[in-house]
Amino acid sequence: MQVLITGGAGFIGSHLAEWLLGTGDRVTVLDDLSTGSMGNIAHLVGRPNFSYRIGSVTDVPLVAELVDGCDVAVHLAAAVGVQLIIEQPTATIETNVRGTEVVLAAAARKRKLCVIASTSEVYGKASKVPFSEDDDVSLGPTTHSRWAYACSKALDEWLALAYAREKKLPVIVVRLFNTVGPRQIGRYGMVLPRFADQAIAGEPITVFGSGEQARCFCHVRDSVEAIVRLMRTADAVGEVVNVGNNHEITINGLADRVRQIAGSQSKIVRVPYDVAYAKGFEDMERRVPDLAKLARLTGFHPAVQLDRTIEDVLADRRRALSAQ
Ligand code: UDP
Repeated sequence: MQVLITGGAGFIGSHLAEWLLGTGDRVTVLDDLSTGSMGNIAHLVGRPNFSYRIGSVTDVPLVAELVDGCDVAVHLAAAVGVQLIIEQPTATIETNVRGTEVVLAAAARKRKLCVIASTSEVYGKASKVPFSEDDDVSLGPTTHSRWAYACSKALDEWLALAYAREKKLPVIVVRLFNTVGPRQIGRYGMVLPRFADQAIAGEPITVFGSGEQARCFCHVRDSVEAIVRLMRTADAVGEVVNVGNNHEITINGLADRVRQIAGSQSKIVRVPYDVAYAKGFEDMERRVPDLAKLARLTGFHPAVQLDRTIEDVLADRRRALSAQ
């Protein structure tokens, strides 16, 4: 199978590319290197079934050419990371909405299977545990930039499902919950690589807010396997599916585990949200995926334990920091 991965030089995309090459598929990556990097795919360049193009997912002729040449398009290219979204809300909305429009329109012309990456952010401020795919979304006010990301991804989902209904486009929407692992970097706000870098450097580990907010972290290897299985499941077409791990930990708990596993002497400090992000920042208290639908469709259950994930991230960050 020939698979196009938009955002393929990013954290998740590069792992997906690697996985698919390993199962004998052919992969083309499209990436503008905004948050992705050549370093993420350097080990794939030169392999016979791998090719890449540097360009934007909003470039209509380029996307049309690449979609024509593939059997499946996995659309991961997006503005991601809470920090980035707060700093660059215009680019976030435009990239996320426009990019998805371009990919869906190109795929619709040839009825190519399209996997659209969405996010658990779309559940917004709802306090239900766990979140199931049919639950209501509950976003905050438009004056708070954070919700622009959730809203842009929710619009991507509406658009994908609209193409499915109206134009018979085969689509699968995957809602990714806090994917973590090697090659993720902390520059755009993601908590685990940030804590890892701080623990390795012996610097204070910065817990935002009370630290009692909780998340479920999924190793990228599990997320990628779930995406690939969904891609190969006929019954997943037309569906929205949560992808993640349902083991929950508070951010205070995560800081402790990272410090302990790293053997670090770092202090753990609390930083108020309005200092860390912006005034009026709203966080989610809990975000647990209901994984029943994923299991029913694919038989898949995430397997990597959190401590193992933290060890992998620490090893990767040590390698990356020593290479700088
Ligand atoms: N966070 C933190 N310290 C950091 C970065 C993030 O305490 O240096 C918190 C953040 O406020 C959130 C959680 O960690 O409550 C997860 O943040 P991340 O940006 O990784 O993902 P989110 O779940 O917010 O999309």
